[in-house]
Amino acid sequence: MTKVIDGDAALRVLSEVASYLSAALHVEDALARVAGVLERGLGAEECRIWLRAAPDHTFVAARPEWAKPPPQGYERNVADWVTSGEAPEWEPDDPRVRITLKHQGEHLGLLECRLSDGPDCQLCREVVQTVANILSPLLSSIELSEDLASEIALRTREIDSQRRFTGKIIDSLPVGLYVVDREYRIQAWNRKRETGTQGISRDDAVGRVVFDILRRQPRGLLQREFDTVFKTGRIEEMEVQTETPDGVRFFRITKVPMRLDEDRVSHVITIGEDITQARLVQQQVSQTEKLAAVGQLAAGVMHEINNPLATIGACVEAMTPWVNELPPRIGQKFSEYLEIIQSEMSRCKSIVDGLLDFSRPKSRARYPAQINQIVEDSLYLIKYHDRFKRIKVERAFDDDLPLISANAEQLKQVFLDLMLNAIDSMDGGGTLTITTGRNPARDDEVMVSVSDTGMGIPRENIPKLFEPFFTTKAPGQGTGLGLSIAYSIVQHHNGRILVDSQPGAGATFRVMLPITDFTETQS
Ligand code: ADP
Repeated sequence: MTKVIDGDAALRVLSEVASYLSAALHVEDALARVAGVLERGLGAEECRIWLRAAPDHTFVAARPEWAKPPPQGYERNVADWVTSGEAPEWEPDDPRVRITLKHQGEHLGLLECRLSDGPDCQLCREVVQTVANILSPLLSSIELSEDLASEIALRTREIDSQRRFTGKIIDSLPVGLYVVDREYRIQAWNRKRETGTQGISRDDAVGRVVFDILRRQPRGLLQREFDTVFKTGRIEEMEVQTETPDGVRFFRITKVPMRLDEDRVSHVITIGEDITQARLVQQQVSQTEKLAAVGQLAAGVMHEINNPLATIGACVEAMTPWVNELPPRIGQKFSEYLEIIQSEMSRCKSIVDGLLDFSRPKSRARYPAQINQIVEDSLYLIKYHDRFKRIKVERAFDDDLPLISANAEQLKQVFLDLMLNAIDSMDGGGTLTITTGRNPARDDEVMVSVSDTGMGIPRENIPKLFEPFFTTKAPGQGTGLGLSIAYSIVQHHNGRILVDSQPGAGATFRVMLPITDFTETQS
């Protein structure tokens, strides 16, 4: 029985063949599918495609299974046909249609279909011929495209490994790094930005608009920073401070322009470097230098001031009895003036005493001491202070603290000064909180923190707090020496003193002191 396919079916076969050939398939897969379409579409029993493999004229089945098992003598014939490019003419009654694949005179292979439903299907033969016509030019470029494919695969692998390598470099950096494009979309986000308390995972960040991710900074400000770099093409550097649960941290933020094409800035790379440690060391060095300079200066002028002060004091004392011998109106004035001289003198004296205290070499004598006891003694000393009465005191002492090696008198002076400052800042009353414990960030230190609910410290004053003579108190109320003395005492104890403050919301001073292992020192 002869099956004659109609024009629609033929068109369907051809369009299906075309779709496989235009899809980016491997040659072998594409040919297998074409053969499959012919088998289904034409009701063919089997279709095979043989390729002549240049340059040795061997031939191969486009799919390995098409070659096995070859019918007796069949392979030989196919080889001849493929090599000579002369497939035998179709003969009536022969269900096989064989068409040589040729392009521009070059013999490329053979397409063979066994039409099971009969050899008389003219349209079937035409379809096979058309498919052969479509295949031929494509096969002539196989070699080229295979080369191209392997070249592309090689390049892709190279690019991939290059990308992985660059990615690894960026991820290994000890700085936070991200990249935004001109739409402010995040295009890269390194490992460091994923870690830490404010870490955000790469999956959550990449592709999103940066302002939706980094919300701590006002959008307008952040956008202006990017815009400046996009516009000027210059590197911008700034320093920022951030409050973290471990206290204030300092970061150096660098915004670097990146150009994908030659001239236009296409991306901005932002690098954030934690410079807290360096900043603290720098502050300590400059603080130490300043203190040393002041100490030398103070020691030099101290005597020069003390002597005239003593002379003035003696004169005032000598004059006092004479006041009674003056006429009352003048005597009263004299007495007022002498009192002013006396009080101004005692102010000078307290400054000189403070300076002396500051510049006098600190006793190196240290004894095992219980930090809670020292803090308790300091509190006791200010307990009877007038201003203390309006203040609520809260204490949270850790009773299980190891001993430290300390000069208790000197440390008492430190805590006294911190407490008095705290009380001063809480003019109308407030809460003074004293806490002792181990430093949560370092288990080789004890920590005493003195917190108040006072007016706080303006950000710009924080770097100046420990400078000698820095005071915001009214004349006569403060010498500006308390914190610098406290600083040098703590430093002599190999400790640290840190301050955190929100203007308007109080201040916290934390004193960190090293724990001494007395068992080791004794052995
Ligand atoms: P003085 O107390 O004589 O001014 P200090 O060196 O002790 O000198 O303190 C310096 C300055 O630091 C103070 O004048 C004040 O401005 C600020 N200060 C210190 N402690 C606090 C605090 N707890 N709250 C607010 N400001 C403080």
